[in-house]
Amino acid sequence: MKRALFFPLLIALACLGSIPAGAQTTEPLLSWDELRALNNEISGELAQDYIRDISRFHRLQPSRGYTLAAEWVAEKAKKLGFSDVRIEKYPADGKTTYFMYDSVPAWDVEFAELWIVEPKEEKLTSFEEIPLSVAIGSSNCDQKGDLVFVGDGTAPQDYEKVEVKGKVVLATGPIGSVAGLAVDRFGALGVVTVNQRFADDEPDNIGSLRINTNAPSFGFGLSHRRGNELKDRILRGEKLTVRAKVKAETHPYFYENVIATIPGTDLAAEEVILTAHLCHNKPGANDNASGSACLLEVGRALRRLSDEGKLPKPKRTIRFLWVPEMSGSIAYVARHPEVSGQAIAGLNLDMVGQYLNDNNSTFFLHLTPHSRPHFINDLLINLTEFVTENNVQALMSEPAFAVHSLSGSRDAFRSRIMGYTGGSDQVIFNDGLIAVPFAFFLVWPDRYYHTSGDQPEKCDPTQLKRSSLLAAAATVFLMDDSPERARRLAGESASRAEARMAGELRRGFDLIGKSEAGGVHGAYKEAVNWLNRALEHEGAGLGSLRNYSAGDKNVDAYIGETTVRFKEEQPLRLKDLERYYSLTCRDRNIPPQKLSLTEEEKRAARIIPRRDAGLKGPVGRGYLREKLKDSAESFNLPIFRQNGLVTYEILNFTDGKNSLLDIRNAVSAEFEPLPLQWVEDYIRLLARAGIVIVEK
Ligand SMILES: [Zn+2]
Repeated sequence: MKRALFFPLLIALACLGSIPAGAQTTEPLLSWDELRALNNEISGELAQDYIRDISRFHRLQPSRGYTLAAEWVAEKAKKLGFSDVRIEKYPADGKTTYFMYDSVPAWDVEFAELWIVEPKEEKLTSFEEIPLSVAIGSSNCDQKGDLVFVGDGTAPQDYEKVEVKGKVVLATGPIGSVAGLAVDRFGALGVVTVNQRFADDEPDNIGSLRINTNAPSFGFGLSHRRGNELKDRILRGEKLTVRAKVKAETHPYFYENVIATIPGTDLAAEEVILTAHLCHNKPGANDNASGSACLLEVGRALRRLSDEGKLPKPKRTIRFLWVPEMSGSIAYVARHPEVSGQAIAGLNLDMVGQYLNDNNSTFFLHLTPHSRPHFINDLLINLTEFVTENNVQALMSEPAFAVHSLSGSRDAFRSRIMGYTGGSDQVIFNDGLIAVPFAFFLVWPDRYYHTSGDQPEKCDPTQLKRSSLLAAAATVFLMDDSPERARRLAGESASRAEARMAGELRRGFDLIGKSEAGGVHGAYKEAVNWLNRALEHEGAGLGSLRNYSAGDKNVDAYIGETTVRFKEEQPLRLKDLERYYSLTCRDRNIPPQKLSLTEEEKRAARIIPRRDAGLKGPVGRGYLREKLKDSAESFNLPIFRQNGLVTYEILNFTDGKNSLLDIRNAVSAEFEPLPLQWVEDYIRLLARAGIVIVEK
């Protein structure tokens, strides 16, 4: 904005008097009193304290270090007033399986050090100081050998000019590929790698490592700075001998979930689930002591506020799960099949505490997948928009609801609402056979991710407070069943659904509008599919609110009538699309065509695949490989070159009601248009593995 224009404008606006705060912001679905109570109670400082405690433990899954962290969380939860606190154990021995997932045994280290012993003693790293500098999977050893530099170390040519047999390799490539060649093919004793992860910004951090060789060996990681110093010394002709000593053990053990509740009253059998993975290398402060700490803080605050009468007592039970990522969740649903009927919705918190400005990162609310439409989406969208609008600076408008901790940053709350994504425990719960609608909070990126730099002080108390407050506010809504809340959300959801359907129409216009002559008709057909899927999806999302307030018939009736109206108005939206299609056809000099199904589509519409009900959870790649042992070429399907979310959703839409064509259309609306054949090939692959049943 130019100064010359700015000042007169400022004066003009000032003359209008003060602009009411919040006039242009989202009205929250919780009362202002409830939100203020949460904002006063929830503390980013306390969350950061919990992070300091949790990040003292090396929390590999499974391991004794993880057990110590689980015990700490359980003790803390008891002290903070959680109920039913317990640690549940599930065998992790390499033999026990959880649906399509194999358990893995524990790897525990007692001692590991890497030294230069000649020409003079120099300690390079130790487990005690930086646990993640020792590669997971390293074997017991006490080995001495010359340190030789092999460059990247990931191609056989890297080993042509240098003899590595009986020596220790220093490499700049990823440890997995280096070790496969250096140790298993060329006989090296072990591998030392130079960290490349965020190395430009953080030259002294070390990235997490895992080694998986046939021969026993070891791996250590050095920082970019230290590793390059060693490299230079070797390249200058200095002869360095290193000694690696590791005392480690691979042993059958347990996955452990810490489970706690705040029990409900009237609807105690129904549950709201909050999850965070507790595992990962020490320190793992943001990933994911942060989510684990926020769960403690949410529970503590809700407990106190409802005890003091500042919030209603929860009618539904709130269940907190601290898990080893993925394995803990799949083991939990295997042992507790009742979760599918009991849990109305859930929220997963993973990496939710870093400084936004320092990391140039954004708070992401990832919604449930299209296969699991649910009102939790609009609830969280409302709350996230409200907190965002009130935590950025706008001209001439004072935020009415600033969320700042006592000692944290004043960073603007940059947020983005996006469709479903994987990468954490919500993947398990949203599976079609587990069927708990799960949303996901994630702050990304993080320049300390999976490195020794992921320290507690890198977490921002303000961001921890905002993440906790959003999770707590959603929980307050979900744990209740008041007709008042149902009515408010019904209105919110109906209007947002309407806007999203308009958004799908625009998306259709874009697809048609940019198509060349040969593709216009296909684009029109796809756009019609998108609109039809949106109608179905939005209707189902709104319909899920019927489960919220069982006692209220008026809201249910409103939802029913709104859904009918959406259907009645669908021909108008389709007509809009058709007119735009005709316009584009005229422009491209082609005749418009009527819509019809191809012979292939007609055939696919008659095939209705279903899942093996005994195999819950997403497809395990290892499981699939094992079942299709004889046919490595099976994995050359084009669908495997798509984002993994596509195959995840194909399985979820395989519900015994959708036809092959429906499934293709559903994932094509959620992601990008896909050839029917790709979807059919994938489903037939799953059928060969026994995961899906396709009747002739
Ligand atoms: Zn994580």
